[in-house]
Amino acid sequence: MNLPTIADYPERYQIRFCPRCAAELVVVPLFGMQRQRCPACGWIHYPLPNLAATVVIEHENGIVLVQRDIDPDRGIWHLPIGHAEYGEDPADAALREGEEETGLRLAEPRFLSYTHGPSYGDPRLFYLVLGFVARAVGGALTGSDEGRATMVVPLDQLPPLKWTSQQAAIEAYRRLRREP
Ligand SMILES: [Zn+2]
Repeated sequence: MNLPTIADYPERYQIRFCPRCAAELVVVPLFGMQRQRCPACGWIHYPLPNLAATVVIEHENGIVLVQRDIDPDRGIWHLPIGHAEYGEDPADAALREGEEETGLRLAEPRFLSYTHGPSYGDPRLFYLVLGFVARAVGGALTGSDEGRATMVVPLDQLPPLKWTSQQAAIEAYRRLRREP
């Protein structure tokens, strides 16, 4: 398995100085690979993938899609998705993002899928995206407080989704619905 080396890290992980004490980091072999370590305080740089959650919202007439209003991919229709905050359960992040983007109130999150792969914005930055299904239990599809357009599409008429994380979530959701 070819894991990224320090030179392959994304921009945000290209650091030279210790974030704790500001000493210049050194590269040392450690736990099987070259890593950056602080010679002063011992801090070791372990880059992590970004953690995001996406949600298939079951609405009475189908699945809720939202329209993306920022680049890249402005204008595409997709499932609600967003980053989990540090310490936030990804299932809670899925509900929160779904509620923020649609105006609905959601409940009963259930795990569907995960994908791990490079970001569309920066191919050196990896993302771990967890997919959930949740039920709309209140609120109203008013368009979101973030100003995004929404629509409800029957599952059998769902257009192809662009992002692999959302393709995986829908695929898992279809499997779930086929099960007794
Ligand atoms: Zn340090």
